[in-house]
Amino acid sequence: ALFYRQLPKVELHAHLNGSVSSETMDLLMKRKPHLNIERGMTAILREQRRSLDECFQVFKVIHQLVDSGEDILLVAKAVIQEFAADGVKYLELRSTPREVTETGLTKQIYIETVLEAIRQCKQEGVDIDVRFLVAVDRRHGPEVAMETVKLAEDFMLCSGGTVVGLDLSGDPTVGHGKTLLPALQKAKNCGLKLALHLSEVPSQRDESELLLNLPPDRIGHGTFLHPEVGGSDSLVDKVCKQNIPIEMCLTSNVIGQTVPSYDKHHFQYWYNRGHPCVLCTDDKGVFSTDLSQEYQLAASTFKLSAEDVWNLSQQAIGCTFAPEPIKQKLEKMWAELKQQIL
Ligand code: 5GP
Repeated sequence: ALFYRQLPKVELHAHLNGSVSSETMDLLMKRKPHLNIERGMTAILREQRRSLDECFQVFKVIHQLVDSGEDILLVAKAVIQEFAADGVKYLELRSTPREVTETGLTKQIYIETVLEAIRQCKQEGVDIDVRFLVAVDRRHGPEVAMETVKLAEDFMLCSGGTVVGLDLSGDPTVGHGKTLLPALQKAKNCGLKLALHLSEVPSQRDESELLLNLPPDRIGHGTFLHPEVGGSDSLVDKVCKQNIPIEMCLTSNVIGQTVPSYDKHHFQYWYNRGHPCVLCTDDKGVFSTDLSQEYQLAASTFKLSAEDVWNLSQQAIGCTFAPEPIKQKLEKMWAELKQQIL
């Protein structure tokens, strides 16, 4: 277990509000006792299984607890510190900007506050490089998506390189990606990198076919892309030809039951083909996990050697949206730590 914690890691798929630890949740629940929210409502234990729909219900509860600028600052700082303590050296955090009239929270303030948290952590010497992806919730439709893209573009230009991309997430059974194409295309044209949740459920085949033509810079989950699970050769071809890295979240997929068991996870399919796979947590708070555990889980399930695990974590550097000099800096860090840890 020590090896996995010491292993330098890159986290590329972490939703802010899904990443809030139980310790921080306790604090928020104490601040807002009138909501009558208990521990079991904001996190799912590793042994438990839920429907994807039930998982999304959990986010509604968490959003009630995190509804002001003050809350955002608290959770963002804590989440960054927790990732750093787990040995994550580079983190791309993503979050959907929300507006809450009662607390004066606007989407603008939301993003500013996350950026402030990143700044404060840096100033306090937390040993981690953090970037931000602005998230589009597909449930909110094309107009909101376009607004969010404009906001993301503004922040990309004024955040000194912290805002690097756009995420597409939210309940995959709601809406269709084709209505969001103009917004996603605009984001791409202005230089935002695209990390899109793709084929998270089986019914998204046509949508993935369409979104892969953009193409995205990274794929979230991609659970149902390959033919063995109802995807298609054409989808696999597009992913392979464009060499699009896939962010994979083992615990999240097994708890949410889009994957029946760890040994059946699509990591195996893509890893065996030598395709870039990046292990991620998705929602470390909701799914009671951390990135060290995800690496350990992949290693034990798929019989990876320490060397394999090291290469997996190193390969993730190339999949980041960081500028080239930062990637080089990370490569150097990995090279220096290798003799010590491996
Ligand atoms: P937030 O964006 O509020 O920081 O994080 C929670 C949000 O992330 C959820 O409301 C949902 O839109 C998105 N999210 C978190 N986990 C998942 C997931 O596994 N799949 C999808 N499609 N969206 C997710």
